[in-house]
Amino acid sequence: MTLIFPLEAVTAEIAGSDARFPVRRIFCVGRNYAEHAREMGGAPEREPPFFFTKPADAIVGGLADIAMPARTANLHHEIELVVALGTGGCDLSEDAAIEAIFGYAVGNDLTRRDLQAEAKAAARPWDMAKGFDQSAVLSPIRRVADIGHPFTARIWLSVNGTARQDGDISDMIWPVPAIIAELSTYVELKAGDLIYTGTPAGVGQVVAGDLVEGGIDGVGSIANRFI
Ligand code: MN
Repeated sequence: MTLIFPLEAVTAEIAGSDARFPVRRIFCVGRNYAEHAREMGGAPEREPPFFFTKPADAIVGGLADIAMPARTANLHHEIELVVALGTGGCDLSEDAAIEAIFGYAVGNDLTRRDLQAEAKAAARPWDMAKGFDQSAVLSPIRRVADIGHPFTARIWLSVNGTARQDGDISDMIWPVPAIIAELSTYVELKAGDLIYTGTPAGVGQVVAGDLVEGGIDGVGSIANRFI
């Protein structure tokens, strides 16, 4: 087969390995922590979490300088646990879902909050609010073989050293196995898929010059300067 132009594979760093993780798709969970759902005007008791997507090439490294995106006056940070799948399938049980996990990373689901608010008000899609270039910050992936499954761990984010988000991944409304099982009823999951699992409360604005640091105990950390 001849390609009419070269297309570079999107890949992510694997901690402690020279091999790279090929990124197939990026799925994200919305409103998966009750306090964050409330701060966004939702009612987590009545509305379950839901899915949206970003393009694979929205990935940007956890230590990269990130250019302020166009078309927003209110860029927001969302620190998240990211699941990297090593296998997939349809209609997975929660046990099968756990077996499909290759590893975990720390992500920042960057969001044009002003465009998202406009989209919500007009009942339009979120794509341009969520799926823009460099909107999916990703730390190196830690393998399950090395760290196991972090179902309880502190998750935090600071801007210029000031705490903004501080929670625990055990506060997810849908825990990781439930997310994967649920998502696998909508699409056939495959190796290379990433899932951003939602953010705890405390989301807020990032402006040019900010240093955004964050992490999940036992998983990793990010530190991005916005320029
Ligand atoms: Mn998010």
